Amino acid sequence: MTSAEAATWYFKKAARIMDVGERIETLLATPLRTVSVQVSIELDNGEIRTFKGYRVQHDNARGPMKGGLRFHPEVNDDEVLGLASLMTWKTAVVNLPYGGAKGGIQCNPADLSVKELERLTRKFVDQIHDVIGPTRDIPGPDMNTNPQVMAWIMDQYSRYHGHSPAVVTGKPIDLYGSRGREAATARGLLYVCREILRDIGQQLSGTRFAIQGFGNVGSHAARLFHEDGGKVVAVSDVHGGVMNPKGLDVPALFEHVKKNGTVRGFPGGAPCRNEDVLTADCDVLVPAAIGGVITKQVAAEVRARIVLEGANGPSTPEADEVFEQRGVLVVPDILANAGGVTVSYFEWVQNMQHVTWDEERVNGELERVMKEAYEKVGQISRSRKLPLRTSAYVLAIGRVGKATVLRGI
Ligand code: GLU
Repeated sequence: MTSAEAATWYFKKAARIMDVGERIETLLATPLRTVSVQVSIELDNGEIRTFKGYRVQHDNARGPMKGGLRFHPEVNDDEVLGLASLMTWKTAVVNLPYGGAKGGIQCNPADLSVKELERLTRKFVDQIHDVIGPTRDIPGPDMNTNPQVMAWIMDQYSRYHGHSPAVVTGKPIDLYGSRGREAATARGLLYVCREILRDIGQQLSGTRFAIQGFGNVGSHAARLFHEDGGKVVAVSDVHGGVMNPKGLDVPALFEHVKKNGTVRGFPGGAPCRNEDVLTADCDVLVPAAIGGVITKQVAAEVRARIVLEGANGPSTPEADEVFEQRGVLVVPDILANAGGVTVSYFEWVQNMQHVTWDEERVNGELERVMKEAYEKVGQISRSRKLPLRTSAYVLAIGRVGKATVLRGI
């Protein structure tokens, strides 16, 4: 199953339970616009290289479309389409006045110099600047894109349209970025996790976490869970992993990563493979890397009681069924990792109003949004006896469907 098919599968499952009808189902499943562009740049050595770039705008019934931009060798039209639809449902679950979009460039940023990355980003903006904008479609960070990339997007877009900080989020704090944006996805995971644990009568303090991925989401999650008294027992990145059933020394792990650029080789635990982290002995598994890593075989071996989806689409639909049969509680991506886009929204609000919020305000508002979304999804789950993922889709489809009908088709 491709990633777009997987995303559609979850959508359809909920749409059928809601009985929205075939026509509305097709309307909500079809993207508004798919843009596919050629991005050619000159490399530092004078060679010409051509990359494929995508922006898929899925739905705008609830507002301007919103979603990240990823740089990855596996980016393709199908993946971006699946991820764009996830953004529509995610922004609706947390009730942001946005639709959903996603973009990407098929490239390996590790092979490119900073200057090449800058040229690539600016050239991509040249190709899509007329379909994005502060009230149309607002890109943000995603896999392998960072505040610097967002700053180049803002600058390049502004050359065409005049000073426009609100065209992109996840910018550096010194260039219209928001306090708290960098850790926001992980902080959202923490807030949802606290609620879930409270519901099942468990303290976060002492809870054992296994985290796959040590990028923006995974690394901040390790830090925040550790600061809250949690025990991080396993972590990994693309190079490998490390485990310690007694809990890793997270500050020392950060020192190690700073020096070596990877968690691999951290002396405070036993070495393991990236995929071993998924089946590590823990209470909460946090997949925070690429999609599709939890297949039905992996799901059968997962030892966690709770899966908190930090990544987008980490569990295949087959895996999701295994989790349901086994009674593993899955907090779906469109709820669990919505903290990132929520603080992106706060950044956009600050940019539109020419104000800045302090970090306390950002985190406080984020906590309120995450708690409210969790509460609403939980209510649907309890009253309709549905898993959290289907409940989150029911909430989102209801909201998007209402807006669609009210606006008129
Ligand atoms: N990439 C993040 C996500 O998948 C956030 C996107 C954004 O901030 O626009 O939710």
